[in-house]
Amino acid sequence: MSGPSAPSVPPVPSYGPYRRDCPWCGSRRLRARLRGDGPRQGAPHRSPVERCADCRHVFRNPPLPPGTEHPVVRAGVRVRHGLAARAMFRHCPEPESWLDVGTGDADFPLTARAHFPYTSFDGLDPTHRVLRARAVERVEEAFVGWLTDHHIAVRLRERYDVVSLFQYLERVADPRAELRGALRVLRPGGHLLVDVADPRRLFPVHAVGLNAELVAQGCTVLTGARAHRVIARKDASASAA
Ligand SMILES: [Zn+2]
Repeated sequence: MSGPSAPSVPPVPSYGPYRRDCPWCGSRRLRARLRGDGPRQGAPHRSPVERCADCRHVFRNPPLPPGTEHPVVRAGVRVRHGLAARAMFRHCPEPESWLDVGTGDADFPLTARAHFPYTSFDGLDPTHRVLRARAVERVEEAFVGWLTDHHIAVRLRERYDVVSLFQYLERVADPRAELRGALRVLRPGGHLLVDVADPRRLFPVHAVGLNAELVAQGCTVLTGARAHRVIARKDASASAA
């Protein structure tokens, strides 16, 4: 278990730096997709959505701080969590081990347990909230850090039957590296769940670029090309390098 003695992780900034390049492909051709309200008093959780003109990756710029969503948004997230768990159940009904990445207070494992009562859920998060989640037994093991951290990659290598990422790739500085990290901790034949839907918006954000990257990394994508909830299987021959 990764306790407070784990390698120290810098605190997540309350409001990340604005970036001028696409976190997915590095292009600087960014277009405002939605006007956010901007950081203002009482609504620190708002930030504008931008879209890359080259790869069509959509992300919040500057990135959102974790765990500051409005209660209504959190309720919507719980519904999405339940739907995602059911979707995964159809592909993988009896996973033994599951890592939820960017788990925060482990809201997803709490919901998913209803569908997977015999599955061992672990959580990874850049903040110490995951340690609190372990203390209240929402996860069995808690890890503080990022998938790209060396100690995480080594320790969790090919360990999990399922790895889930909810609204995670949109928040991180290098989503491709984090995605490859997710595949490293997945055992061959294991399933990856990536939900890129923005719960604050009614229309889905499509996982453009994600499916192609998954195929390039040796996965079989089991969901449609325009799905906002992507389920993929890591092929047995896929390299974990
Ligand atoms: Zn791009």
